[in-house]
Amino acid sequence: MAQEDVFKKLVSHCKEYGFVFPSSDIYDGLGAVYDYGQNGVELKNNIKKYWWDSMVLLHENIVGIDSAIFMHPTIWKASGHVDAFNDPLIDNKDSKKRYRADVLIEDQIAKYEEKIHKEVEKARKRFGDAFNEEQFVTTNQRVLDHKAKMDALHERYKRAMEANDLVELRNIIMDEGIVCPISGTKNWTEVRQFNLMFSTEMGSTAEGSMKVYLRPETAQGIFVNFLNVQKTGRMKIPFGIAQIGKAFRNEIVARQFIFRMREFEQMEMQFFVRPGQELEWFKKWKEYRLKWHKALGFGDDHYRFHDHEKLAHYANAATDIEFLMPFGFKEVEGIHSRTDFDLSQHEKFSGKNIKYFDPELNESYTPYVIETSIGVDRMFLSVMSAAYREEQLDNGETRVVLRLPEALAPIKLAVMPLVKKDGLPEKAREIIDKLRFHFNCQYDEKDSIGKRYRRQDAIGTPYCATVDHQTLEDNMVTIRHRDTMQQERVPIDSLDSIIAEKVSITSLLKKLV
Ligand code: ATP
Repeated sequence: MAQEDVFKKLVSHCKEYGFVFPSSDIYDGLGAVYDYGQNGVELKNNIKKYWWDSMVLLHENIVGIDSAIFMHPTIWKASGHVDAFNDPLIDNKDSKKRYRADVLIEDQIAKYEEKIHKEVEKARKRFGDAFNEEQFVTTNQRVLDHKAKMDALHERYKRAMEANDLVELRNIIMDEGIVCPISGTKNWTEVRQFNLMFSTEMGSTAEGSMKVYLRPETAQGIFVNFLNVQKTGRMKIPFGIAQIGKAFRNEIVARQFIFRMREFEQMEMQFFVRPGQELEWFKKWKEYRLKWHKALGFGDDHYRFHDHEKLAHYANAATDIEFLMPFGFKEVEGIHSRTDFDLSQHEKFSGKNIKYFDPELNESYTPYVIETSIGVDRMFLSVMSAAYREEQLDNGETRVVLRLPEALAPIKLAVMPLVKKDGLPEKAREIIDKLRFHFNCQYDEKDSIGKRYRRQDAIGTPYCATVDHQTLEDNMVTIRHRDTMQQERVPIDSLDSIIAEKVSITSLLKKLV
């Protein structure tokens, strides 16, 4: 199936099974805003718990906070967001569609990459076992031509972005012959900067009101609480502060479902270190974060690092962890070495001394910062797209199954009476009443057992237990495993020990230490 179709199916699956709904659905939705349904919220909470525990529970030098969404507007001046949190936008005059100029160019670079990839795959088929990829890509003329064009474009794009040269960005779009995917024309406007922050008014009187912003990232809430946490928690460098919370960006082009939203959630951790030690810590956090992703078991080939070529002026290293989504490798998390930029800026704008006294060195300094920043929603999308399968069964039927890591599954166990009578429903409820303290259980009595299995497969429930007449005599149930579809007869008393550990977040956390 084409990847585009897989993605479309995934989006409708998310809606049909209560994972993600368009916001304000009965009013035909609101652009790039989504609601999480009964299963989505459970999966999302499990992702957040996995992240939070991996930070706060497993590191004694990391603590959490929960700062407000509204903050003093000067914070966004100090952080640079008021002046520079912009994207270059361009409109197509024929389709009236708006695009990010940088994204159009990056897509063009990806097209060259794709052309090279196709040549390589064609040659691989032709030469079979004798194929030497290294030799092919360094000697084949077509590959070399594509590569030369790609490198030249890349270099030109990099220079334009570094110089913030909007005219040059437009020139690149024209020279490359990039057309609007809707109208197919090159009838482009000039490129303009567009600030992504939402603003509103705080205060009830017109004179007394103040323009405030909806935070575009949670990180600044951590920076402005650096001293509060350090002093009250008696934290010693190196230490980290973690936070999960909503962020808002007025994205120019919001496409691809929950990949790019206007209201989303971030999980961010700022790790404060001694100046000079930041690159060492940057490396450690890169490794740790990749391990966190890989522990989910989707396969190491689903991840790659993408080191930034264009560093923000305050950063001295930055990388993205990219995940293989149905529409290609895309950023899910950013890891940035932000130097002492943020704390120094807040020191300057607030007039407060934001230094740390290091008792070991007997000196004060502004700490350097490593940031790990991941979007909950993008993580959710990556998990859903890796888990979604349409499988052909031996009996010729197909089933849709979410092969979710057990610890992330919304429901861990579905308990099903074979029939709705003879005391079987009561027995099933008895089992749930015992187990619901340990993990999420669902009672399901409607339709045939086969249909009920399919329904649970579709929401990723790892275990189903069927109560039949025999159960009333021997206190045993048939447990069915989602991935293998194997069934086995087990005593009711052993359900907890069979399931609890496997479905707990602890099973994932243990892979990290
Ligand atoms: P992009 O280049 O895709 O716009 P970014 O580099 O601006 O992302 P950061 O500012 O580094 O993103 O934010 C950290 C993380 O927050 C991202 O890796 C992503 O997972 C998430 N994120 C950022 N913007 C959005 C959005 N509009 N919708 C959903 N998640 C987002």
